[in-house]
Formats: sequence, C-alpha cells, structure tokens
Amino acid sequence: MSKNYIVGFPRIGEQRELKRVLEEFWANKCSFKDVEIVAKELKNRHWKYQRDAGVDFISSNDFSLYDNMLDTSIMLGAIPKRFQHLSDEELYFAMARGNASSVAMEMTKWFNTNYHYIVPELSVEDSYSLNASKIIDEYNEAKELGIKTKINIIGPITYLGLSKRVDRGDAYELWNKVLPIYEELLKIISILDDEITIQIEEPIFARELNTKILSLIKPTYERLSNVSSNIKIALVTYFEHSNEATKILVHTPVWALGVDFLHGDENLQSLEIIANSGKKLIAGVVDGRNIWRCDITKSLKLLKNISKVVKKENILVGSSCSLLHSPFTLKYEEKMSSEIKKWLSFALEKLDEISLVSKIFFYTQQSLNEVRKEMLERNIKANKNRKKSTLIHDKTVQERVKNHTKVQREGSAKERIAHQREILGYKDLVTTTIGSFPQTPQLRKARSDFKNSLISKERYEKEIKNYIDDCVAFQEECGLEVLVHGEPERNDMVEYFGEQLNGYGFTQNGWVQSYGSRCVKPPFIYGDISRPKSMTVDWITYAQSKTSKIMKGMLTGPVTILNWSFVRDDMPRGEVSKQIAVALSDEIDDLQKAGIKIIQVDEAAFKEGYPLREDKIKAYEAWAVRDFKIAISSAKKETQIHTHMCYSEFNDIINTIEDMDADVISIETARSGNELLKIFKEVGYKNEVGPGVYDIHSPRVPSVEEIVKQIELLLEVLPKEQLWINPDCGLKTRKWEEVKPSLKNMVEAVNIIRERAGL
Ligand code: GLN
Ligand code: ZN
Repeated sequence: MSKNYIVGFPRIGEQRELKRVLEEFWANKCSFKDVEIVAKELKNRHWKYQRDAGVDFISSNDFSLYDNMLDTSIMLGAIPKRFQHLSDEELYFAMARGNASSVAMEMTKWFNTNYHYIVPELSVEDSYSLNASKIIDEYNEAKELGIKTKINIIGPITYLGLSKRVDRGDAYELWNKVLPIYEELLKIISILDDEITIQIEEPIFARELNTKILSLIKPTYERLSNVSSNIKIALVTYFEHSNEATKILVHTPVWALGVDFLHGDENLQSLEIIANSGKKLIAGVVDGRNIWRCDITKSLKLLKNISKVVKKENILVGSSCSLLHSPFTLKYEEKMSSEIKKWLSFALEKLDEISLVSKIFFYTQQSLNEVRKEMLERNIKANKNRKKSTLIHDKTVQERVKNHTKVQREGSAKERIAHQREILGYKDLVTTTIGSFPQTPQLRKARSDFKNSLISKERYEKEIKNYIDDCVAFQEECGLEVLVHGEPERNDMVEYFGEQLNGYGFTQNGWVQSYGSRCVKPPFIYGDISRPKSMTVDWITYAQSKTSKIMKGMLTGPVTILNWSFVRDDMPRGEVSKQIAVALSDEIDDLQKAGIKIIQVDEAAFKEGYPLREDKIKAYEAWAVRDFKIAISSAKKETQIHTHMCYSEFNDIINTIEDMDADVISIETARSGNELLKIFKEVGYKNEVGPGVYDIHSPRVPSVEEIVKQIELLLEVLPKEQLWINPDCGLKTRKWEEVKPSLKNMVEAVNIIRERAGL
C-alpha cells in the first residue's frame, strides 16, 4: 500500500553534464547527436536513482534541454512568427537564445523561485497543432528500462496565465484553441499503455485567481478527464495553498490532487472536501526547494494529522514541489564540515527521505528492516544535534539583534538630501555607475588561483589594486562624477558577503538550474549571523585614496542577501534578515568613519522575495523594509545612502520603495522600455533617482544622441534636481571595449543637456 510521489527531478546532472554538452554544442564543438547521448544517459541515470530509492511515482517529461515551458510551446506548436521557418533543435534553441536574425523569447522567473522559464508568445492569429514526440519518446525510454512513469505536463491554465499576447489581448481568450490540443495529447498518450498517470501542474492556482480563471477550471478538467478512461490525472500545485481551485477540482473527475503543505499550510483547510470527494491526495510534506535534512518525525506528525481526515489509503507521500529547485547531491561535498553536512539533504538524499517517510507512515516503525531503522535513527540524531549545536546558536548575536530597536535614520529625507547636496556639492544630472566594472578573465583567474592557494595573498591583492587603479583612472578620464571601485574582489554580490559573515555555509557542487544551461550555487545560512570584521572598508578606502572625487561604498542589502541564499528553516525569514541588517549597519558605520560619504546598498532581489499571495505581502514588506532601514540606520545625516534595483515593475511597490528611505535610488529603466517613467509621471517620487539611461544587457554601445533623448524623456517626468544619470545595472558582464565608449557617450550626453540648460 505504501505510495510515494516525486513531483519532478533535476535535469542538469550531478556534474552539470547537460550544461557542459549544451555549451559545447552552442560553441560548435560537438554535434546535436552528442547532446542527445548525454541527455539520454542523464534521464536513464535519474530514473534509476529514483527507482533504487524506492520511489513509486517517477516522472517522465520532467527532463528538458532548456525549459519545460518552452517544451510546452513546442508541444502546442505555439511558435512565434519569426521562428516559423526553422525546425528541430535549430528552432528550439533559437526560441530560447535567439539567433543571428531574431531576438530570443523573453525569460522570466518561475513564481517565487530563481528558475526562469521562456515566456510563450501567443497571438489570436496562431493556429496550434500537436507535437507529442518528446513526451512519447521519453515515456518509452523509461519503459525500456522497465520503469513505468507518470507523464508530467504543464497545465493549460498555467500555460496561458504565464503567456503574453503579442497582439495585446488576454491569453485566456485562446483557451478554446489550446484546450483541444491538450485533449488530443491525452488521446495519444492514452494508447501508450493500459493505464497511464498524467501529472498536470497548475502552479498558477497558488496565486489569487480572478473569476475568469476560476470559471475555466471546471470545464478544463472535465474535458481533459473525459478524454479517456485509462488516464488518471494528478493535478499538482505547489509553492502556496490552492484552496480556491481545490474547491472546484473536487467536483471534477481528476484522480488525485497534489498540494504543498509546507509552503501553504492553509491547504489543511481543504482536507475535508478532499476526503469527501474520495480523491487521492498527494501530500507535499518533504521540502523540494530547500537544502535541509527533513525532520522525519515532523513529517510523520503532519501526515498523521492529515490522515485523521483523509483515509490513509488515499494518501500519497510527496515532495512539496519538483526537486529541480534543490541542488543535486551531497556526495561531492568534501570540504564542508561533517557536522553541517549531516544537517543537509539535496535532491538525491531527499529521495531516500521521502521513501523512508512513506515506509514508516504506511507500515509503522516496528516493521522496518534494519537498514531503514538505522536511517531513521540517523535522521533523528542529526536533527537533534542541529537543534543544540553551538555552530548555530550565538547568544550574543541573539541578544544584540533583539535589542536593536533603532530603525529610523535621523532627519527626514528632504532635510538629509538638502544637507548632503551642500556637503557633497554635486551638480544636477550627476553621473555615476551601478558598481561593477567588467570581470576580466585575468581577474577571474587571479581570484580562483588565490582560492586554490596558487598565488599569495600579496600577489592577489596587488592584482585587485591594479584593477582598482585602472578603473578609477578610467572613470576620471571619462569625466564620471561619483566613482566606484569596480567590485573586482567579488565573484558574486551575495557570496562575497556570505564568505565574511559567521553563520554562512558554502557548497562545492550545490548547483541549481537558473535558466537553460545556467546554474547558480547559492550559499546557505545555517546559524546566527554576525560580522567578525569589516568586509569592504579596505578596498573602498584604497579606491578613495586614489581620487579626489567621491568614491561610493558598495554593499548588498539584507533582503537580497537573504533571498539569494538558502535560508535556515528553524527561524522566520524576517528574523534572519534582521541579523544580516544589524551586521550591515556596523559595516556602514565603519565605512563612514573611514571617510566614505556615499554608500550604496543594493537590493536587486527585493521584489523577487514577494509572496505569491496578496494577503501575505504586508507582512513581507513590513520586515523587508524594516531590515533595509535597520541596515542604513547607522548612517549619519550627511552620509548619503543609495540603493539599486534591477527591474522596473514598480507599479504596486513604489510607495514601499519610498518607505525604504534611501536618499537616492538607481533603477533599471531603459531595458524595460521606459515603463517606469509612466509611474513617476502618475505617482511621482520624492527622493533622488537614477533611472538607467541605457540597457547594459546587450553588447551594443548606445550613441550620444540616443542617451540625450533618454535624458530628455526623464526630464519630462522628473525635475533635473532630482535626477542622477547612470546605466541600468552593473557592468560586470560586459567587456571593457563596450563599457568605455558607452560611458563616454553617457557623460557626453549629460554635458550636452547641461550646456543647453545653462547648468
Ligand atoms: N552593485 C552591483 C553591480 O554593479 C549591483 C548588481 C545588481 O543589481 N544585480 O554589479
Ligand atoms: Zn541591477
């Protein structure tokens, strides 16, 4: 009777094999056949891992060469016009990455994860047709191994909801055209075997649903359920509760409902109606998107509570979401302390956890064999040790953070800014950049050589200082007014700080797919956070010593540090973020004491941390804004605080941004087609602001005229006294050959405008 269920598995490979072969293929260093060979091997390996761990429901079609939403577009034949003359892998990768003649399709974050999907482009003129080959092939590949899989697909309501209409209508108007393709798909799938399970993912149900979407749920799932009697539909949601949809789905013929009890414990409220419907319940009780060893006792308790309402025989023990969002395996972690390693569990280890939880849940602890008994004991012991460990708990930090009540800086923003302008003496339309300058191969090599003890500390520091010297010299020569040191010492804006804070851990191989072949390796917060010594002061003061202009200090904000790390699960996120904030406030104080007059505190991931559910936004904003303010609370009136954000969907959060109380904010603007300017026009903004005047994501050098025009647009919505002139974001991904002429043109453009205005 024991049944357990994995929503989906990572595909990039435990050694990022898929990444490697894809990048070789794109660089024309291998053939597509080679890609297919690696892909097949990975799929086979991943299925076997799951089978050997005792997983009952293993997926096919969770694999992808780039992204599952893109696969869904291909499956539906939803190909944008500019790619329609292409076919096969040429078509596929052109849609994902663009080609010589066409830009790539847009990419955006998958709900509140750091995974990016390819946004479908739909139009009322489209005609759709089914291409089920990938799905069928993958099913049969697994079958050859003797593994009968469930087939994963993204549901039509989520697919449409995440699409954009190039002809500007509502994507749901295309429901009539898209649903028949799904029906056709199910029909074809139904002949693959006597009985088939299809996992249809509808994560959009975890958001607030409007009446239009709600009205589509019943007809969609009635029609899909009626395609064939040998298909069982498991309707799966994750990342939040989906109670509104559940109320409707229980009245459709779907076979099972999968819900996430960890990131949406409100799902517990739906237990009764699920029980009454007699449907199976896939209970997401093991976290699929964190790195912590599951507390098996806790999962069992949760399952026990669930089974008080839903019959045990109707329960499947599941992962809370696809394991795609966690790193692959701990087995290559050789440098991590063995104590900490015992607290962790990545995708491969989670398989054993889920399997074990379901064995105990269904068979009781007494009937376990010796191996499993031992696994359980190890689990209980590791979790006990973690709770008590001195590595985690630092009384001094806890006391200090608890007693830190200063949230507000002195003076109103208006007073402060007036005061700062007097002291700093910058002109209207003052020019600056966002922080980083090109990360050259030489720099990367120096950093990695230093990390691997191949070069001495002195040699490494000399290398960094040389870079800073050149960077400062270039900025002076170019005529920029507020300078930066260029961030040569940072590989990553979060990792750099994590490495210097107590309470932070790192992996060697904890890669998580971010988009396509791109992976990130987030650090993790396991304990109370404190700052043993200053983190940036030496570099910044060195840079300042090289110029008489103002050198901007450069920090990453508490919310971004938190959002781009795996966070401990034994403390609310808001408390962890407060600890980071207090540490940063000390850094700011050290910087100003060292004579630094402007300090930028980047919050690139502030927006990304927003909850999926509207009723939780207030609570998030409350601690996120508070902690940014705590971080800058040590800044004296005359120390100017900047912040930077690289996205422009500001409509709903502009007032929240203002509440953060930074004196100056720089924001992405040019890249997103000046959307932001409308908001400034409609809502206004009180403090100083630098809306990016050119997009740094492309190698193109913007012309002087183009930037002049952009500045003119800014001046239409904001007075010159309020404006800073800067690029959209940091320049680290660009080359010097692109950066130099671009910034020269930017300064030139400002000179033209100033001259005209007689400034
Ligand atoms: N200061 C950082 C940089 O310039 C900001 C990066 C970001 O916003 N993502 O690289
Ligand atoms: Zn940015």
